Amino acid sequence: MIVILRSDATEEQIQHIVEKAEGLGLSANISRGVEKTVIGLIGPEDVLRVTPLEVFPGVEQVIPVLAPYRLVSREFKQENTIIKVTDKVSIGGEKIAVMSGPCSIESAEGMRSIAKVVKDAGANILRGGAFKPRTSPYDFQGLGEEGLKYLKEAGEEYGLATITEVMDSRDIELICKYVDILQVGARNMQNFSLLKELGKTKKPVMLKRGISATIKEWLMSAEYLLANGNFDVMLCERGIRTFETATRNTLDINAVGVVKHLSHLPVIVDPSHGTGKWGLVGGSAKAGIAAGCDGLMIEVHEKPEEALSDGPQSLIPEKFSALMKELDKIAVAVSRKLL
Ligand code: PEP
Ligand code: MN
Repeated sequence: MIVILRSDATEEQIQHIVEKAEGLGLSANISRGVEKTVIGLIGPEDVLRVTPLEVFPGVEQVIPVLAPYRLVSREFKQENTIIKVTDKVSIGGEKIAVMSGPCSIESAEGMRSIAKVVKDAGANILRGGAFKPRTSPYDFQGLGEEGLKYLKEAGEEYGLATITEVMDSRDIELICKYVDILQVGARNMQNFSLLKELGKTKKPVMLKRGISATIKEWLMSAEYLLANGNFDVMLCERGIRTFETATRNTLDINAVGVVKHLSHLPVIVDPSHGTGKWGLVGGSAKAGIAAGCDGLMIEVHEKPEEALSDGPQSLIPEKFSALMKELDKIAVAVSRKLL
């Protein structure tokens, strides 16, 4: 931590800061320049969370040196994290994972037929929401446990791993009985009590980026999961809210490279929620792979016009299968594989 002092800081104020820092177990080095004096503090910075140096007389600015998301950072772990989801599915290695299926689980038959589409196209994870975070309370809220059963049955029948969203910590135990990956939706990225509980589970967690969250806030939310014991965490860029209204969200492709640089955790790109329009999904999915993502989440529906949620951004099976072949070529071009 670097403490920059005001030009008029007195010797007494400087000594007071040094004594306080040393009392907290930090070692202090004073550098006196012509214009400014700075104090470099070395040691466990966390102690300064309860004693913020900003409030001390004579202090102009305090600059932390260490990232606040320690366990999530590349400094903590240099090599990429590879999450073993099932015996057949890993995320974070050479193969790019593809999670596909409808936005909401709608019926047993619908789930089974979409699972076949997903499997035949070469994707490895089946998605579907049973507890839906809808902006309007009057919109379809999901089938709950019944939907989880359909997802599990369809996944087992076609040898696909499964993912679904957890909205409430009271549902974690139930959901863990049915699926392989627990998804935290954008609206819950900073639901810290939910994150703490998910940190105590043994299942991989996919943390979506909050609608208006900075990358730093997103990584700090991931830190909650790791700090509570769960290191099987992947991050999903699903678009953020900007001034642009032509698309549902603005897919932040830059975030892929930034997060891969700052963190060892796998990064997933969701071009479906990122664009909100099926015609834009393919291009953004390709961009995600080119930017270095480890997986994609793509919504697919046999009859998007009848979908109970997110029909406009859902690909029909034929378009999805064709896209998968194109995505594989992009993957190979960046020394990865998809199929
Ligand atoms: C979803 O995956 O269907 C979903 C609701 O995503 P998000 O939380 O990114 O809006
Ligand atoms: Mn959706």
